[in-house]
Amino acid sequence: MGFAVEQECPQCGAPIELEETDRVIRCPYCNVKNFLFAPDYFRLLLPPKVSDKDILYAPYMRFKGSVYLCKGTSIGHRIVDITRQGSTFRQLPVSLGLRPQAMKMKFVNPGVPGSFLKCSLRRTDALARAARHTSLAGPGKLVHQAYIGEAFSLIYLPLFAQQGKLFDAITNKAIARLPQGEDVLDPAIEQNPKWQITFMATICPQCGWDLDGERDSVVLTCSNCDTAWAASEGKFIRVDFNAVPGRDEDATYFPFWRIAARDKGLEIHSYADFIRVTRQPKVLQRHWENQDMCFWIPAFKIRPKLFLHLARQMTILQKDFDTEEEIPKKKLYPVTLPRGEAVQSMKLTLASSAMAKKEIFPLLPQVSFTLRESTLVYLPFNEGGHEMVQEHTRVAINKRTLEFGRYL
Ligand SMILES: [Zn+2]
Ligand SMILES: [Zn+2]
Repeated sequence: MGFAVEQECPQCGAPIELEETDRVIRCPYCNVKNFLFAPDYFRLLLPPKVSDKDILYAPYMRFKGSVYLCKGTSIGHRIVDITRQGSTFRQLPVSLGLRPQAMKMKFVNPGVPGSFLKCSLRRTDALARAARHTSLAGPGKLVHQAYIGEAFSLIYLPLFAQQGKLFDAITNKAIARLPQGEDVLDPAIEQNPKWQITFMATICPQCGWDLDGERDSVVLTCSNCDTAWAASEGKFIRVDFNAVPGRDEDATYFPFWRIAARDKGLEIHSYADFIRVTRQPKVLQRHWENQDMCFWIPAFKIRPKLFLHLARQMTILQKDFDTEEEIPKKKLYPVTLPRGEAVQSMKLTLASSAMAKKEIFPLLPQVSFTLRESTLVYLPFNEGGHEMVQEHTRVAINKRTLEFGRYL
């Protein structure tokens, strides 16, 4: 389940309530729209309920997303939702329990009074621990793991020290002893944290038009000058995109990341190499030798099983569509999976496409990709009963899994 966050409108100061995965926030009072950006990850705090104490914030690492493991000859996956105590103080509660669900969090900014304990837990260790708790893949050697579609943040729990003990500043209860006194905390305190989130006005950098996007969009589009934009280092950077025109007026356009890449290890450079190496039951065509190998990864969050299924189907087909460089003026499904996470799922897609898993899986650790090009491609899907069906390939997505994916 997602956590609620409260943030003041940077324009008029009115309180805005948002979900932790929201990136585009619109103020209901002054109607100003902003895109939220944090350079590494979002830092949130649980507001203390005591007012007359010096607050000390303890970090908890939070991860919500899908874990995939390639083990033996099978791929296991699971949605995980964890918080882990991140400081070196072992006496603190291991997780935040139900607190974040019962309260509204706030973003950490330089104006917050109090001090912050350093987070010594590394992101990769927290993720590895999450993976260990997913005893899902079959027997055999672990050859690859990936974490996709993640909400990754730090949540701070407010504490205060009194009479040799640490108290929870929400419940006012003692939670840990400080046998060597309060000085023991000093070296663990972050000096001068200047963490801040950036509010970026959702204005097209090229033409000044208002950019379009939904609350969980990570790519915004300009319908005036037909451009797409993603945030990087506090700026909007142009995203290469194209669209495949659909015949149906009511088509919904779903975004995919098309990533051209070469791999060292299995030596897959062309589409023909891919067909050969993964042993697809297809008759090789000569022109495939000159066709770059492209991965097609859904640019939206969806259940792990379906995500992998879609990526595999689209990558095996690797269709050469007729495209145009115009943002479809119809229904656009939001891009909720950043390009970086799509790149993380390339090896997984390769593993999943392999017909002879016994042959390919042991070689996965030595596979490394060189990226050549990445493009966001909008493909038309039409309504077909319980499914959305891609017009040219007949690849289908169950509608109910889409609704679920928005809350991943
Ligand atoms: Zn406002
Ligand atoms: Zn524009």
